[in-house]
Parts: sequence; C-alpha cells; structure tokens
Amino acid sequence: MKAYLDNGATTMVDPDVVEVMMPYFSIKYGNAGSLHGLGKDAGDAVRKARATIAEAINADPDEIIFTSGGTESDNIALKEAAFANQGKGNHIITTKIEHPAVLETCRFLETMGFSVTYLDVDKEGFVDVEAFRRALRPETILASVMHANNEIGTIEPISEIGSICREKGIIFHTDAVQSFTKVPIDTKAMNIDLMSLSAHKIHGPKGTGALFVRKGTKLGTLMHGGGQEKRLRSGTENVPGIVGFAKAVEIAAKSHEHIARMTGLRDRLGSGLLAIPGSSLNGAEPESGKRLCNNINVSFKYVEGEAMLVHLDLAGVAVSTGSACSQKSLKPSHVLLAIGMARKDSHGTLRLTLSRFTTEEEVDYTVEALKGIVEKLREMSPLNKETIKGYDDIDLKKRGR
Ligand SMILES: *Cc1c(COP(=O)(O)O)cnc(C)c1O
Repeated sequence: MKAYLDNGATTMVDPDVVEVMMPYFSIKYGNAGSLHGLGKDAGDAVRKARATIAEAINADPDEIIFTSGGTESDNIALKEAAFANQGKGNHIITTKIEHPAVLETCRFLETMGFSVTYLDVDKEGFVDVEAFRRALRPETILASVMHANNEIGTIEPISEIGSICREKGIIFHTDAVQSFTKVPIDTKAMNIDLMSLSAHKIHGPKGTGALFVRKGTKLGTLMHGGGQEKRLRSGTENVPGIVGFAKAVEIAAKSHEHIARMTGLRDRLGSGLLAIPGSSLNGAEPESGKRLCNNINVSFKYVEGEAMLVHLDLAGVAVSTGSACSQKSLKPSHVLLAIGMARKDSHGTLRLTLSRFTTEEEVDYTVEALKGIVEKLREMSPLNKETIKGYDDIDLKKRGR
C-alpha cells in the first residue's frame, strides 16, 4: 500500500490502542458484571473508559451507553426515542444527507406509522436552520441531523438546531461518528440529547461505539436481557473494545496538533487534485472552517469513479467513490444528488479521507497517480468532450428544459 486515503471508511487501529486492549483478551478476561476480582478489574476498566469518553464530550459518565458502533447507536437512538415518545406525536425531522443508518431507520419508522420530513440541503451540503424551524409541527417528537457528513465533510449547524429542539421540547439526535475528536463537541452547550459515536473511525477497534443519552431522555429498550448499560442495551460488555475506544479518544484529546496537520495535508491534497483539468470540489469550502479537517471530495468530468478507484488501487492507493456504502451498488450517492449534482456527473466522484497517520508522501503520490489515471481514462473514454456535449443536450431535453 502506497497511500491509504480511505479513513472515512475505517482507520488503522493505533498500535498504542492495540497494546492496552491485549490484556483484556488474555489475562484480564473477566466479565465486567462478575463480583470476583477478575470481574471487578474488567468492571473498573469499563468505568474508567466511560469517564474518559464522557469527559471528551462534556457529559456525565452515566450518560454513555456502549454499543457495537455507529450503526447500532443510530438505530437505538431513533427507534427507541420514536417508540417511547409515540404518545406525544409521530413526526420526525431529518435530512437527505444522513448516513444510511439514520435514513434507513427513518424509512422503517415510516412503515410503523411515523411521518418523516427529509430536509433539503444547499449546494455545499448545509441544512438551513430556518427551513428546519419551518418543518416543525405540533406533533414533532424527534430530530436527527448529523454533525459532519461522511461523504462531503460538511459540518452542520447543530448548535442552532439543538437550541431550537430544546426550546420546543423535541429530542435532538446527532450522528457525530465522523466529527468526533476532529470538531469540538460539548453536549451541554450544544443541547444534544442523543449522539452516536464509533471507535473504528478514530483509530479504535471495529465493532465498538457509544450512544450518548442525556439524563432524562425517554428511551425504550432495544436489547432485553441481563440489564447491562442501564438496561438499554443488555449483553456482556465488550471490554477490550471499550478499553481500546477510550484509549483512542484519550490519544486524540491529548493534542490538537493532529487537526492542524491534517488540515494542512487536506489542503495540499485538495489543491493538487483541483489542478487536474475538469475537476471540482464538492462540499463546503475548506477555508470556511465548516469542512472536516480530513475530507476532500472531488468530481472529475468525463471519467467514472469506479474506473479511477480500480486504477488507483493498482497503483497502491486506497480511496472511495461517494461513500463506502454506495460503492457496492452503482446507484448515485444520495448526498451528491442532494447537493444538486446531475446523476451522470455524480459517477465521476472520489472521496479521499486522511488521518493523523497520513503523510505528505502519500498525498503527493496520490495526486501524481491520479493525474496520470484521469488523463489515460479520458483518452480511452468514449465520453470525450465532443460526445459529452451531445449527452448533456439529451439529458436536458429529457428533463424538459
Ligand atoms: C461509519 C459511519 C457510521 C456507521 O458506524 P459503524 O461503527 O461502522 O456502524 C454511521 N454514521 C456515520 C456518519 C459514519 O461515517
């Protein structure tokens, strides 16, 4: 591997994280619920981890529920808040650019009698706070707006939305899987009731995450059983995963240097890629301060994202088209469509995501490799500038313009 620029999909587990996890597989293998010494050691480790994560988001330790990851946290938050508050109303507000773990859960809730408003976003991917306000109904019980988008890196105005929700007595959930440890989060100042986190996007292990549940937020029980995690989510705690998650948070929280470094490399990558003819940036302007420090999303005219990805892979570079989840199907990314991109243009899009382990060499190698690949693909492609012109006209006619 020459360059790994797919950290939005998953990250390398930090070797220091692996190290603190190891004893909990071997010598400290107790069940955190057991009353003997081995169990107490595991229980203490889980308690310590809960405090570390709570501190990073200005929450209380007993407001942290450990889960199997971002997907589970999103599912618990939306389903359990919706069902537990059904008596008050059946309306939910979310956006068109949420992660599938939120969008598909909302679609499911629609089949269960809930009514869901999917808010539009502007061409940079921002939700309009006034449009949010206008979408409110007397029967609105829950809103879910992600902190930062996983495909285009746009950071949403969740503080404003949080304060509207608090004022109206609506439960506010945010998916902060991508932003956690990259953008400051204060659950109290931001009026967040529920928040999803995941370890493997921040150099922790896969299969571990957390749901922040503000004290007093009414939720139902997803997993019935032994009563772990305040009876919300029964099941023997994943002690190594939880310990590793907390270590990953601790490392990221210790220094903010890595954010400045990633921002610099992101901008180097962005300007390198945007120097390739026929390229354009998707999402918020990097200078706005409202884009994730590790995300670049670029569309290239007259080339297919999948072809670029395959050629980059052969050159030892890992990136993503649109998002990891839309990769297996050739459906255009719902996020790119929501920011107003035409279907045919959305296919020529790559997402490149950095981490604190990304080097300048990786960035420069990727830019050089992609320059050659885009050129070669365009030469080979029937979608050269002449034919694409006719293609554009046909497309516009079909849409009656
Ligand atoms: C990765 C991701 C998830 C899913 O998290 P898992 O831990 O992989 O289940 C949810 N939301 C966002 C925004 C993500 O980027």
